[in-house]
Amino acid sequence: MGTEHIRNFSIVAHIDHGKSTLADRMLELTGSITDRDRQEQMLDSMDLERERGITIKASAVTMKYELDGKEYMLNLIDTPGHVDFHYEVSRALAACEGALLVVDASQGVEAQTVANTYLAVETGAEIIGVINKIDLPAAQPQVVIEEVEHAIGLSKGECFPISAKSGEGVGELLRAVIQLLPPPEDHSDEPSSALIFDANFNDYRGVICYVKVVGGKLRTRQKIRLMGTGRTYVISEIGKFAPQMTAVDELGSGEVGYVIANIKELADVTIGDTITDDANPAEKPLPGYQPPAQMVFSDFYPGNNTDYPKLRGAFEKLATNDSSFTFTPQSSPALGFGFRCGFLGLLHMEIVQERLEREYDIDVVQTAPTVSYEVITKDGETIRIDSPSMLPDPSHIEALKEPYVRLEIITSSDTIGGIMTLAEGKRCQLIKTDYLSKTRVLLEYKAPLAEIVYDFYDLLKGISHGYATMDYELIGFEKSNLAKVDILVNKKAVDALSVILHRSNAEVRGRKLLQKLRKAIPKHQFEIPLQAAIGGKIIARETIKAYRKDVTSKLYGGDVSRKMKVLKKQKEGKKRMKSIGSVQIPQEAFMSILDTS
Ligand code: GDP
Ligand code: MG
Repeated sequence: MGTEHIRNFSIVAHIDHGKSTLADRMLELTGSITDRDRQEQMLDSMDLERERGITIKASAVTMKYELDGKEYMLNLIDTPGHVDFHYEVSRALAACEGALLVVDASQGVEAQTVANTYLAVETGAEIIGVINKIDLPAAQPQVVIEEVEHAIGLSKGECFPISAKSGEGVGELLRAVIQLLPPPEDHSDEPSSALIFDANFNDYRGVICYVKVVGGKLRTRQKIRLMGTGRTYVISEIGKFAPQMTAVDELGSGEVGYVIANIKELADVTIGDTITDDANPAEKPLPGYQPPAQMVFSDFYPGNNTDYPKLRGAFEKLATNDSSFTFTPQSSPALGFGFRCGFLGLLHMEIVQERLEREYDIDVVQTAPTVSYEVITKDGETIRIDSPSMLPDPSHIEALKEPYVRLEIITSSDTIGGIMTLAEGKRCQLIKTDYLSKTRVLLEYKAPLAEIVYDFYDLLKGISHGYATMDYELIGFEKSNLAKVDILVNKKAVDALSVILHRSNAEVRGRKLLQKLRKAIPKHQFEIPLQAAIGGKIIARETIKAYRKDVTSKLYGGDVSRKMKVLKKQKEGKKRMKSIGSVQIPQEAFMSILDTS
């Protein structure tokens, strides 16, 4: 039947520029959903996603559209927009020949617009510009089209002004998808090969693989082989998302859909792997792509009302539908048995934390997140570590390397000064400055990941009054003048509090960390010295004075409800304490490092 009638495309955008709304409008316009089963934002299915307004899992939907008497099959692959989920964008784009780049007509080109364009260009996708929200009074479609021309290199003829909200221009856009985006190549006469571009786990159905068929076709009851692992399975169901899962007999070359094949665990499937026919396999696998990299690590220990097996059980469940989350057993002299967890970024970490509490009623004590480092030992070996406690003895260390990123910031020209000062304080090196228009600038930096992963985004938002946007991409590890800073509480080193800092600011940050700790750790009946040390050398110290009065005594005769609040707060706080020697350390103390950068 050929592939002439197929178009596979993604919608990419900076967050909130309207890709989910546009996806919904397209579903409506193509009659894929009726008013009755229409929910706001069909493609954002998880509760958490809905609440946070972000799309976590990419979804694929097949739509039918008629143009000039010919029926087309449009496969739309939705993608998330947050920096933590870059890899899902590349993943989705790997299955597409085209991408719609949505830009808010009242906001203009933002950092993720540019980052997503790079990803699309890398995968070879054809790009159509979509200028959205033209219904807004503040919309400036002409100015934004010029920005798109300058920053993205699209011409006016490749940009379509629309309102995803009202539907204006969306019909023309669907026509453009058919006329301007190429169909997939037709490899129907070759052996079966299909790219697995996503997968998720369903309690009733097991693993569901999202696939794009490239060579030949896939059909039910076919015996298939995953080329990466060499394992074989029999397809029990094959289908399309229309948008509900709809079984079909086969998927042909160029088509997008799902495969269920009695695969028990998500861990058995590698995203980017190739499915082929077991009896008549493809010669070589399809080009995969870079697996997601965990950028941020943190240790999770069971809190007071949670035990180790319960925590492990929750992690195992979480990992079955989030393959980018990793956990490995870890033990700490201070905190006992727990897990070292890897995340794509801080947002991803927050999402996992929140799910642990909400869905599994788990109480954890968590250490401050850290990036991973490379250690070159005196023997010339390179070791990757993702916790300060994993550092070998200083006498074995030849050099330390830290991860660097290419950081892009887009902002208004009047906020450049403040942003440059912020960036300098975070050891960022300016690579280039590019004016997108008279008032908007793109700043490109080379930056240490450790400096921008925690509070940089919040500081950036503050300085620019919410206006600046940023995005970053890992470029590699480089030698850096780093030191492990140990934190001693009551003369005892607490491994879970140690941090790796750049020597240029180790003293300042070490002191700030102690000041935070002093506030976070409640007074005890004895004085508690707090110290920061590099090697054996103390670089900063603070003291928690001994406790004398009842905390509530000064409230006697005062407002009773306030006193109750204090008591309640104390009680809540206690739930999350860990005793280290004779000192009680609350959960928030372990996160102190987050506020000291
Ligand atoms: P996403 O983060 O890119 O998926 O963006 P959403 O589709 O969730 O849209 C973000 C916000 O912009 C929502 O409040 C939408 O209702 C709103 N929005 C999307 N498209 C339009 C539009 O064309 N006009 C107006 N006025 N608002 C829109
Ligand atoms: Mg969305």
